[in-house]
Amino acid sequence: AMYAAKQQRGTTFLHFDETMSAPGGDHAQLRAAITDGRCFLVYQPIVSLDDGRLAGAEALVRWDHPEHGVLPPDTFIPLAERTGLIVPLGRFVLTEAVRQFAAWHAQYGAAAPTVLNINVSPRELREADYADFVAGTLATHGVDASRVVLEITESLALDLGPAVATLDRLRALGLRISLDDFGTGSSTLRLLHDCPVDEVKLDRSFTQAPASDRAPVAAAVIQLARALRLHAVAEGVETPEQAEQLRSLGYRTAQGYHFARPVPAAQLTEWMTGPPV
Ligand code: C2E
Ligand code: CA
Ligand code: CA
Ligand code: CA
Repeated sequence: AMYAAKQQRGTTFLHFDETMSAPGGDHAQLRAAITDGRCFLVYQPIVSLDDGRLAGAEALVRWDHPEHGVLPPDTFIPLAERTGLIVPLGRFVLTEAVRQFAAWHAQYGAAAPTVLNINVSPRELREADYADFVAGTLATHGVDASRVVLEITESLALDLGPAVATLDRLRALGLRISLDDFGTGSSTLRLLHDCPVDEVKLDRSFTQAPASDRAPVAAAVIQLARALRLHAVAEGVETPEQAEQLRSLGYRTAQGYHFARPVPAAQLTEWMTGPPV
């Protein structure tokens, strides 16, 4: 599964590689982008299905490329993972997201998102000081660890190996671990058994399946989550019908274009000052 995921991601990148004006310069360009502030974050609301309010926010990275404009993460995360640049990039993402989250809480109090979700690659978890770095960042900004959820893509989580110990440390600190794209891996049950997690994110391929195909899978995942005492989130909700069915199945929170696209930090505050638009 690891190999398949890499192949799949590699294909995305190869496509991007061909569009680069200076092939081979991409690694240096990305390295410079991280230090020069050309990477930035957008935030997608995680919405309560009960009352439509802002429950959390997921930080998603973008690269403002000098020639290609704003690039989505699928075009450069695989490169970052291959080259190790994911370590400084991931530290930028965590630092910036935690700083922003603390600023929202200072300004908006209880109206600010309750939780902050951040995507993490297994490569980052293999750094010996990763848990210390996270703890230090949270302390610097006065953010409670219980407010932060680290998301790991299910297919990549199979490759964690000794990094599982880092997840144990992070959970001991109070952070929560979420399995992203849940249900798309080839050893889903094995992983739930081996990997210390708190949340599963129903992959959008299930959310967006025709209602008759979606219902049994979405129902099975929430039953599994309940049995294992995990939180379940549905992602990729694009229609009111999907939202209503997931709510009736017992999902409490969801994400997707039906509620909101990822937006810059300044725009997310619209959710904190008045009723959602
Ligand atoms: P993901 O974590 O599964 O993020 C969800 C992706 O689905 C986001 O794309 C989001 O914009 C998109 N999305 C949200 N709602 C909908 C919807 O209703 N319909 C559809 N069709 N799509 C929706 P994005 O921002 O391009 O991110 C792609 C992937 O890049 C993420 O998938 C995540 O795996 C990775 N990624 C993003 N930021 C980071 C980061 O800081 N670090 C790491 N390691 N990976 C990241
Ligand atoms: Ca995610
Ligand atoms: Ca996902
Ligand atoms: Ca994904």
